[in-house]
Amino acid sequence: MRTFSRFMIMAMAAPILCGAALVVGYVMIVALTIPQLPAWAQPGVEQWLFDVPQYSETSDNGSYTDDSAPAGLSAVLWDGYAGPESDIYGLPLVGPIQHWSTWYDKPLLGCVFHDPHYGSHTGNDFPVNEGTPIHTTMGGKVVWAGENGPWGNLVVVENNGYQVWLAHLSNIQVSAGDILHYGDVVGLSGNTGNSTGAHLHYGIKHKTGEKSYVWLNPQSFFTEDEYINIGCSD
Ligand SMILES: [Zn+2]
Repeated sequence: MRTFSRFMIMAMAAPILCGAALVVGYVMIVALTIPQLPAWAQPGVEQWLFDVPQYSETSDNGSYTDDSAPAGLSAVLWDGYAGPESDIYGLPLVGPIQHWSTWYDKPLLGCVFHDPHYGSHTGNDFPVNEGTPIHTTMGGKVVWAGENGPWGNLVVVENNGYQVWLAHLSNIQVSAGDILHYGDVVGLSGNTGNSTGAHLHYGIKHKTGEKSYVWLNPQSFFTEDEYINIGCSD
């Protein structure tokens, strides 16, 4: 009887021990293998093994409005500023830019305005490594510079009824009230707020009335030769 119960305990423990051995073996193989690979292959293998999201932009939905605002979101009010350099053109990223271990001549365009992968996406997403300088695409007044719920660290520049929104930054280098020139750096790209991987969300808002506005497709403000289209990842 005692032999039988010992056998039962071993029979029950075996799958657990095998499972544990498998996990330990897997982790050891991963830990030993990755450093042996050439530098260019390492990020790819890590992404595959650990399922690091490559194109976080699929998870960010910038369609927050004042009445559908999630917790922690503050309305960015219109300031009414109108000054020089109110034309919007070019991109908030200047190539060459780095995404994972690869350098690209031009910014990478991921998910776009009202992409079908989103319920409603209010801007363009540019996958880019954290810490990349972000430039304003319009001169004007900084009307928001700080954390703002799902937007993460957000900078909003306003001029003549238009606002340029630059979201998910890791670092902000301007303050509310600053007057910027076209192309000034507002901060560094990041992965803050509702974002699961480093990317820039670029939105353009246009005031259409006393209490109304629309989000415009930023692609109307730059040309196809200014970016590399990589598309949404899902
Ligand atoms: Zn976005």
